[in-house]
Amino acid sequence: MIHITKSQLAELISHALREDPVECCGFLIGTEGRTSSVRSTRNIKSDSQSRFEMDESEWKQVLIEAEASGEGAVAVYHSHTNTQAYPSVTDVEIAVKNGWAGYRHVVISLAEKTHPVVRVFMITADGEVNEEVIQTD
Ligand SMILES: [Zn+2]
Repeated sequence: MIHITKSQLAELISHALREDPVECCGFLIGTEGRTSSVRSTRNIKSDSQSRFEMDESEWKQVLIEAEASGEGAVAVYHSHTNTQAYPSVTDVEIAVKNGWAGYRHVVISLAEKTHPVVRVFMITADGEVNEEVIQTD
């Protein structure tokens, strides 16, 4: 289970809408599954509308800053501008390649623009995808 407040969910959705039709990305920072802040990052694959890639030095810096304040990444997030809120085959490959397996992955779907959907998944090192429950405030 992951804890994301309603205002943090709204922040994720507004980030996704702001970048649409490009995918947005970033981290949920916090401790023990409880989100304290949303930290957006740049999508260096912004020329593509169906994938995302974070700049490696930028995402490493985000994690260093989080650790310096006794926190860590609760989840990695990105948006799907035209597809459902479920990790794609590429998402799973990238998660495993970047060492983000074992992290929660939040996917924000804008497939229905007036009805964004946010879901959370744990991706294992074997590429297994398991949905988690989001608890709001
Ligand atoms: Zn994706």
